[in-house]
Amino acid sequence: MRLHKLPSEFQKALPILEKIKDAGFEAYFVGGSVRDALLGRPIHDVDIASSSYPEETKSIFPRTIDVGIEHGTVLVLEEQGEYEITTFRTEDVYVDYRRPSQVSFVRSLEEDLKRRDFTVNALALNEEAHIIDRFDGLEDLNNQTLRAVGNATERFNEDALRIMRGFRFAASLDFSIEAATFEAMKENAPLLENISIERIFIELDKLLLAKGWRKGMEALIGSGAFDYLPDMKGRADHLRAFLASLTDGFAFRTSEQAWALLMVYLEPTHHKSFLKHWKTSNDFQRTVIKLAEIYQLRQQGPVTKQLCYRYGKHLLYLMEEIRQAQGLAADFKQIDAIDESLAIHDKHEIVVKGGEMMASFELVPGPFLGHLLNEVEVAIIEGVLENRRESIMAFIKEKIEHE
Ligand code: ATP
Ligand code: MG
Repeated sequence: MRLHKLPSEFQKALPILEKIKDAGFEAYFVGGSVRDALLGRPIHDVDIASSSYPEETKSIFPRTIDVGIEHGTVLVLEEQGEYEITTFRTEDVYVDYRRPSQVSFVRSLEEDLKRRDFTVNALALNEEAHIIDRFDGLEDLNNQTLRAVGNATERFNEDALRIMRGFRFAASLDFSIEAATFEAMKENAPLLENISIERIFIELDKLLLAKGWRKGMEALIGSGAFDYLPDMKGRADHLRAFLASLTDGFAFRTSEQAWALLMVYLEPTHHKSFLKHWKTSNDFQRTVIKLAEIYQLRQQGPVTKQLCYRYGKHLLYLMEEIRQAQGLAADFKQIDAIDESLAIHDKHEIVVKGGEMMASFELVPGPFLGHLLNEVEVAIIEGVLENRRESIMAFIKEKIEHE
């Protein structure tokens, strides 16, 4: 099969293929970009596979960076852009279900395509816009089917991350997982325990952010693979409730939003440790925990000035979107109105600083001072105290006198 027209991303990269060919080697566009071009989706990275070995690739191009030379990948810097060129390779022996113990460079495209995960990811495209399709990836693309290349059980046994990638592609492509592939996912799911959490997180995160996230989650639940993910063991009902809680067509806006709701539904003993088990960054943990708190506080009551001040409008909006998608009362205008009514959005905006209060009233650091500062802050937020020097000083004076 031939593409009617080579998309511009490939056109732009054609001189790279030509240079490799002129040097006497084969070169093709491969992987996700070919798949996405055929699906009419936006193309991100144009990856190139070549029969040239890394050293040979480096001798063809004046400017290169060794980004993963042990895997055969060289980054080529040319006028039109940066391209990863990876030597055709096989990954023959797998010892830890995680990474190939040995990468062998080969001179055959076919061998390279064979080691790829799914048939729709195992397509290659040459400079004449001709598609090389050794595993009926085109047919699977047409049928919106995700199918492992070759023997599914072997493929997942070699690298269990492919199971998570499969759920992720089901979500991002909105494809159905072919029956034998799905069976093999179920069967090999325990091997996920050998895969680094960081890599699993990346896949689950991409899954959740995909438009077709429901399809991906359904596959994750249906396969039982969640049993081998951190803090999800035995939580099928929780995951189903999470899925069922949101209206069809809803898509998460941010990772934090998705993970906050997922966490609320999973009901881990501690939010912090859940997020730690998932090896997420401190920043991510902080935001997700706040979002989960907002969700729970909103279950208990309306948006208040305190809530708005403490968490900020942006985070409240994210959880209000969730409420809306769950058919709960949601009021974005109310958040806006409260936010606008706040005299301060941060304690640094209080016109009298703590140091000045201490000096003026001969206060010393300690619980009393802390309590007092907090009272000033709350009174300003509630609008019962003006954020003016005289008002604040009078407020403190009175508090001290009543002490
Ligand atoms: P995306 O659009 O998310 O980048 P992609 O298909 O390009 O999707 P990548 O992770 O960028 O996915 O990998 C590029 C290609 O490398 C894949 O299309 C696939 O052919 C191959 N590949 C990547 N990871 C694996 C793996 N774990 N096992 C087998 N093949 C893989
Ligand atoms: Mg890619």
